[in-house]
Amino acid sequence: TIYLDYAATTPVDPEVVRAMANYLSGDGVFANPASEHAPGQQAAEALAVARLRVAALVGAEPGEIVFTSGATEANNLAIAGAARWRRRHGRGQRIVTVRTEHKSVLETCTALAAEGFAVSYLDVGADGRLDPAALDAVLDDDTALVSVMHVNNETGVVQDLAALATRVKAVGALLHVDAVQSIGGEPLDVRALPVDLVSLSAHKLYGPKGVGALYIRQRPRVRLCPLLHGGGQEAGLRPGTVPVHQAVGMGVACELAAQRRASDALWLKGLHQRLRESLAALGGVVLNGREDGAAHILNVSFVGIQGETLAYELQAADLAVASGSACTAALSNRAPSHVLQAMGRPAALAHAAVRFSLGRSITGHEIDTAVERIRCRLQSLRRFSPLWRD
Ligand code: PLP
Repeated sequence: TIYLDYAATTPVDPEVVRAMANYLSGDGVFANPASEHAPGQQAAEALAVARLRVAALVGAEPGEIVFTSGATEANNLAIAGAARWRRRHGRGQRIVTVRTEHKSVLETCTALAAEGFAVSYLDVGADGRLDPAALDAVLDDDTALVSVMHVNNETGVVQDLAALATRVKAVGALLHVDAVQSIGGEPLDVRALPVDLVSLSAHKLYGPKGVGALYIRQRPRVRLCPLLHGGGQEAGLRPGTVPVHQAVGMGVACELAAQRRASDALWLKGLHQRLRESLAALGGVVLNGREDGAAHILNVSFVGIQGETLAYELQAADLAVASGSACTAALSNRAPSHVLQAMGRPAALAHAAVRFSLGRSITGHEIDTAVERIRCRLQSLRRFSPLWRD
């Protein structure tokens, strides 16, 4: 199978697997990092190194990183944790976010609205970008938090975080960024960008599933109410025995991502261009997103067909792509993507969307083979489509 779904998840790098194995069984260090005995201290040291590596990827201090079970939890902790703390201390009760965010952000906001928070959802342009001026219309003294993703997981559209951050800071609100899809390609540096909270996930950067991290700025100190209550681990913000092997895996994955960033970016850019140009040559292909989007994601609509039908047909041709977003377990959900809807795509085009996402081990030859398989399937599907005229 040619796997073109790296935005859904990536394979775990063999180096990451080896590092994790050392912290799982009796041959290695399996102890609880909170234990005072020697094996416990060894585990705590490994955890400290992992924290340092994750922090380094975004230019943070290790004390600003809290390990979570993934970005879904990091997004929940950032948004609900900050909103509840701020409301409790009279620092606002409005949350501002964007209609194209990941469901783990949007659904958290829905839950908070039920708790009485005011939530504003901003629209994007046809190109998926949030106009920074649109923020001005909703930002006020009552705004506790603004949550905007860096790179969109369906379209690869990159938001202008610097322009947005200036506006958020001007009213004294917090800025949370879901940077799950930006790592590896678009670097995000918390020293350069006045962002307060950043969500990360290991399994999008060749690390294991089930572990992520939340960056929480310490200067000035950002305060959160924890979601869970327990033994005080992770500065009391994420209690529960820390899965050292998972954290170690994420740490190594982050280090490799930083080392390989430049060569990955160059490689992905070449693959992206090759794929975009060959797909465009098929005719009736509409780009969903912007030409200056993230190199690893290409979302297009094939006029006259259903994206789901094409993805299904391609599966039979040993080609793995995504229709809609695999980040929402939405195989039974036939509604078109909320992201494409927010970009104003007509229903027929939104239903015709397919997301291709690229990774470090894909070759140019695989891209050519993939496009050839698409060309064949597309031709036969369009032959019977009432919506397609040659
Ligand atoms: N945010 C974005 C932009 C994503 O693409 C994903 C993908 O799954 C998530 C959040 C959720 O991450 P996790 O699977 O680690 O919970």
